[in-house]
Amino acid sequence: MKKIIIANWKMNPQTAKEAIALARGVKLGAKNIKNIEIILAIPSIFFSVVLKTISGSNLKIGVQNIFYEKNGAYTGEISALQARSILANYIIVGHSERRAMGETNEIVHKKLKLTLESGARAILCVGEKEKSDESFPKIIRDEIHTAIHGIKKQFLKNLVVAYEPIWAISSHGMGEADTPNNVYEIAILIRREFYRILGKKIAQHIPILYGGSVSEKNAAEFVSVGNVDGLLVGGASLNAKKFTAILRDVSKTKS
Ligand code: PEP
Repeated sequence: MKKIIIANWKMNPQTAKEAIALARGVKLGAKNIKNIEIILAIPSIFFSVVLKTISGSNLKIGVQNIFYEKNGAYTGEISALQARSILANYIIVGHSERRAMGETNEIVHKKLKLTLESGARAILCVGEKEKSDESFPKIIRDEIHTAIHGIKKQFLKNLVVAYEPIWAISSHGMGEADTPNNVYEIAILIRREFYRILGKKIAQHIPILYGGSVSEKNAAEFVSVGNVDGLLVGGASLNAKKFTAILRDVSKTKS
């Protein structure tokens, strides 16, 4: 399976000029990396300028969020089909920052369904809030179950899951990443759950990523020791040098 690395720019940078410069820096630094699917999940407002900047490169565009209805009078929202129509290949669903704004598991389910039905790949974020929460297996299982419930199996081949313990996300907690060994265990838990619900044929193709304070210092270890299929990178993706160092290090890990 080709590794997947997603840059989640969140509500950054503040100008189109800076967005172009960042995209250009990543394009240059990533140009020889062939064994990773690289996605820039950028603010929708920058789609056209960034698409133009990365044209002809090995980078793809992702969307950070879509609305939970198909179309209609929803001022300020964007739909899954709109995202697809401007060549977004990936859509993040259920990021903890969206959940903190009131997005319930049921809303996450609706967004996931629309995303998968649009033909985009969905990156479903799951993870517990507190490091000390021993019920994390149940939290993760519940998030997975409610998100995929009732979605036809044929669509789930485009599902990607990102384990993102909220306490490990740099802007939420102490900026303390999880450990690769812990991630290894939780990736097994998530994979087992998918095998149980969906069967091997589909579950074996669902990539499991890790996100939470990934940097150029720990990225390769998360992939090699944590044995995940890729990474979701927030803060470090806003610096082209750091992000491309992550790409280079991961590209050298054994798959
Ligand atoms: C994120 O918010 O998805 C994330 C992983 O952020 P960071 O890498 O900054 O912890």
